[in-house]
Amino acid sequence: EQLANQIAAGEVVERPASVIKELVENAVDAGSSTIDITVEEGGLNLIRVTDNGSGIPAEEIETAFQRHATSKISTSSDLFRIASLGFRGEALPSIAAVSRLECLSSTGHTGLGHKLSIEGGTITASIPAATPQGTDMTVRDLFYNTPARLKYMKAVQTELGHISDYIYRIALAHPGIAFTLKHNGNTLLRTLGTGDRLQVIAAIYGSNTAKAMMAIQGESPDYELLGYISKPELTRSNRNGITVIVNGRYIRSHAVNQALLQAYHTLLPINRFPLAIIEIGMHPSLLDVNVHPSKMEVRFSKEAELRTLVESAIQAALGKERHIPGP
Ligand code: ADP
Ligand code: MG
Repeated sequence: EQLANQIAAGEVVERPASVIKELVENAVDAGSSTIDITVEEGGLNLIRVTDNGSGIPAEEIETAFQRHATSKISTSSDLFRIASLGFRGEALPSIAAVSRLECLSSTGHTGLGHKLSIEGGTITASIPAATPQGTDMTVRDLFYNTPARLKYMKAVQTELGHISDYIYRIALAHPGIAFTLKHNGNTLLRTLGTGDRLQVIAAIYGSNTAKAMMAIQGESPDYELLGYISKPELTRSNRNGITVIVNGRYIRSHAVNQALLQAYHTLLPINRFPLAIIEIGMHPSLLDVNVHPSKMEVRFSKEAELRTLVESAIQAALGKERHIPGP
């Protein structure tokens, strides 16, 4: 069991950013309206994710740290229509296997909850504790008992780069949630949770960038598309500024990226890239998220239709911008 957890940990927990991804996705799944992320030394000393979501019932906390204990799937056919972000029940046991973890959680406003402490996969305390509604996960000394993994960790700045990159994208995916990200005491991001995606863009990239964004939208029989793309005068040297969100999940899709850039470079034949946030809505049955444990790369069952939609929506937005009549 311990070994199975450490093996699973190798797949799920690649680096501090993967821990943050799993904890923050759980907080989103729990219906939180605020999520605070605190990190020290690139996440290797400390990662803390505090949410005000549903909380975990005291009698379920220990179970939540057992393998394949997900509360999010009840039948195997559910796997084909996944709506929530988590679904494998592997994250918590994997993280707990390779760190010193403390979980404080409460399901109500009574101020009463439960505290579970785990070191390297072994429970060291499980006691009632005072805590507000929601969940507060603290992960210390990540990889302290897996020196081989620890050796692969890069400089603090590199790990922090992966962390902030992920938090920016999840904040873009959820403009209705107020996020804060702090590293070594400095606030790196604060979003307001008003639901306004341009406000999130401004918080991440600055208000001038937010002003240089154009709305994109479109629909096809199976897909709906919404988002923003930068005006032609605002370009970037790489494609990292493209964020794709599918049914509330930040994902990687080669197909969507390619369609977007195809349309963009047809209209702007330059070796530069846009800042773009594309949100795709669709019936979950058309999506296969169960491709890789990290759940990042997805497949669409009607990919050609989606490509066409993305291309035409980008063309429409950029075309409009180009054909504004002169004064
Ligand atoms: P999964 O997300 O795939 O279900 P996890 O290992 O990430 O598996 O979490 C296990 C279970 O613990 C979840 O199904 C959920 O019931 C509970 N849980 C974890 N984090 C939170 C949280 N922040 N708020 C409420 N419940 C949580
Ligand atoms: Mg999860």
